[in-house]
Amino acid sequence: MADKKTAIVTGGSRGIGREVALSLAALGYDIAIVYIGDESEAADTVRDCEAKGVQAKAYVCNVASFEETKDTVAQIRKDFENIIALVNNAGITRDGLIAFMKESDWDSVLSVNLKGAFNMIRHTAGLFIRNKCGRIVNISSVSGLMGNAGQANYSASKAGVVGLTKATARELAPKGITCNAVAPGFIRTDMTKNITEDNSELLRTIPLGKMGEVSDVAEAVVFLLSSPYITGEVLRVDGGIAM
Ligand code: NAP
Repeated sequence: MADKKTAIVTGGSRGIGREVALSLAALGYDIAIVYIGDESEAADTVRDCEAKGVQAKAYVCNVASFEETKDTVAQIRKDFENIIALVNNAGITRDGLIAFMKESDWDSVLSVNLKGAFNMIRHTAGLFIRNKCGRIVNISSVSGLMGNAGQANYSASKAGVVGLTKATARELAPKGITCNAVAPGFIRTDMTKNITEDNSELLRTIPLGKMGEVSDVAEAVVFLLSSPYITGEVLRVDGGIAM
């Protein structure tokens, strides 16, 4: 038991979450990933984590649902020992100009990206408080720091994640729990598959002149999870976009 440590990674089936799960598995964390529907990608991630010699399991759960996240966290607590890390990474986009944005696109993005992180923190905080130990990393975005035209819903959700991170950090610091955020820029995943570096206008916005890789974000997450004295921080991984 003493040697066991478990991390929960939402949106761990693909993209950034998958790389975070694999990086943590390589450090000896058992891994519980939460995903919404891509069973084959989730199974691949579980298999690749297990290949690193740890226990891994995938849970279908809509992070936007208070009840589903409650039940899923309860199940993860039955399946795993010593849960010490939570990475709130699940996220979606439903882009559109604000003058035309559908109410449902506003609601779904806020529900998954912001309420999803709240739900997961809400259902793990009691455990972390009792254990006087816990590390939380929320994935925000440079869109939440700067705003992005065509992404009012996404930018608002990711700015909300920054506020949630700082409030949680202040509230849980006396219990020895840290809460930080990572704000990626343009990272090569399914979410950005329509963006190409042939678009020189995009490249001009990135001082380092290229898109980021999932490993760039995973390294930042691992760093924040490993640090006992950083809390309430927002670490940009954006090639310099929002400096
Ligand atoms: P991605 O490749 O589209 O993967 C999204 C992940 O979230 C998948 O695992 C998906 O599960 C899961 N997911 C989506 N809705 C969910 C829900 N309601 N409940 C549970 N899981 C759900 O995304 P990504 O690019 O890796 O992005 C990961 C995070 O980084 C997101 O929060 C995103 O906003 C943020 N981010 C990304 C970029 C970027 O450039 N890529 C930049 C800034 C911030 P399924 O596989 O089952 O669909």
